[in-house]
Amino acid sequence: MSAREYIEIEKTYGAHNYHPLPVVISKAKGVWVWDVDGKKYIDMLSSYSAINQGHLHPRIVKAATEQLERVSLTSRAFSNDRMGPFLKKLCNLSGMEMALPMNTGAEAVETAIKLARRWGYQKKGIPENEGEIVVCAGNFHGRTTTIISFSSDEDSKKGFGPFTPGFVTIPYNDIMAFEKAINPSTIGILVEPIQGEAGINVPSPDYLKELKRICSEKGILLILDEIQTGFARTGKMFAFEHEGIKPDILCVGKALGGGLYPVSAALSSREILSVFTPGSHGSTFGGNPLACAIADAALDVLVEEKLAERSARMGAYFVKKLEEIGCPEVREIRAKGLLIGVEFRLGPGETVRPVCQKLMEEGVLAKDTHDKTIRFAPPLTITEEEVDWAIDRIKKVFEGCRVKPNPRPATAQCTCSCPSMQNWR
Ligand SMILES: *Cc1c(COP(=O)(O)O)cnc(C)c1O
Repeated sequence: MSAREYIEIEKTYGAHNYHPLPVVISKAKGVWVWDVDGKKYIDMLSSYSAINQGHLHPRIVKAATEQLERVSLTSRAFSNDRMGPFLKKLCNLSGMEMALPMNTGAEAVETAIKLARRWGYQKKGIPENEGEIVVCAGNFHGRTTTIISFSSDEDSKKGFGPFTPGFVTIPYNDIMAFEKAINPSTIGILVEPIQGEAGINVPSPDYLKELKRICSEKGILLILDEIQTGFARTGKMFAFEHEGIKPDILCVGKALGGGLYPVSAALSSREILSVFTPGSHGSTFGGNPLACAIADAALDVLVEEKLAERSARMGAYFVKKLEEIGCPEVREIRAKGLLIGVEFRLGPGETVRPVCQKLMEEGVLAKDTHDKTIRFAPPLTITEEEVDWAIDRIKKVFEGCRVKPNPRPATAQCTCSCPSMQNWR
């Protein structure tokens, strides 16, 4: 089948809940992917930071195939020989005391919300059903009905109500707003150390430190969602390490599965996690031996290949190279480690999607976050030569938008011709 045919069949039989770039990938290795015609691309998205270790890392693949010869699924009705050692490793790496394994990121966040609420009622004495969790405008924590209840993105919410109550929204990166939002019913704050989906919004230095200080003073919980920022993406194993603090509850996912398998977890202290008792929460696949074997190896790769240091070093190199391009259409570059956002100057209704399309044609796969910003988040195994390969092509595309008489990427027709989305959103 041709690329066009694969896209057609996907569009006919698959719900249109995404708007992918028109590339059909059939093979991958490290930072590289190939389409069905054999054309090579560099992966600058890493599946939203789920592939920090690179595509099909041999060590993680080996762990998976070896485990597939032993046992894949036991359910939590029985113990298995993989979960305990993996959770110990995850706790040691993050400095947390206990973990509850789940599958997707959204499930880790749901787990954190249930955990925080039960803690609020049982340990803090907030009257049942009155607890409030503070969240930030522009947040992205997943797609479940409860999580979208506190999203500020209309596309994520419209037509999906009624919504779950108990959440209070404040602006991101606003300490005073947090202090003002706290009342006797406040359980804690759920926040991303860097807002990924909102456009790589990097808060002021000390933002997390200040949140932690306030939470400690008020006896409430700092709940960090490190599903995207965790596992070396920002130049430290966890983004909270940049500020020398520790959250009360930590949500992890994405790269925990090494790009092979969905693995997530909510971590906390023994005291807080003890509010979960048998029957109060669970998951059929959570903590299964295949997931644990894969995640165990995924953590080993991060540590042994020193991917946090590499992310810091290559991130700085990448950003320097991007700045040297000096494209006047670029309004701002925001980055920490290899989580890099390039925001463009655009008019109302315009998006950077045409730029992503051009990058794709040149062999660089990157995606827009929130219309105006292109995210560059390659696998952390990327080398200087591979960054240079990408930069040559990014430069060509960015310079292309400079020399055009109308330099702004206009609201263009969707070349993938999907009937329901004639225009870029
Ligand atoms: C991706 C993401 C999630 C949701 O993870 P899923 O595995 O897609 O459910 C939650 N929070 C953040 C910050 C994310 O980036």
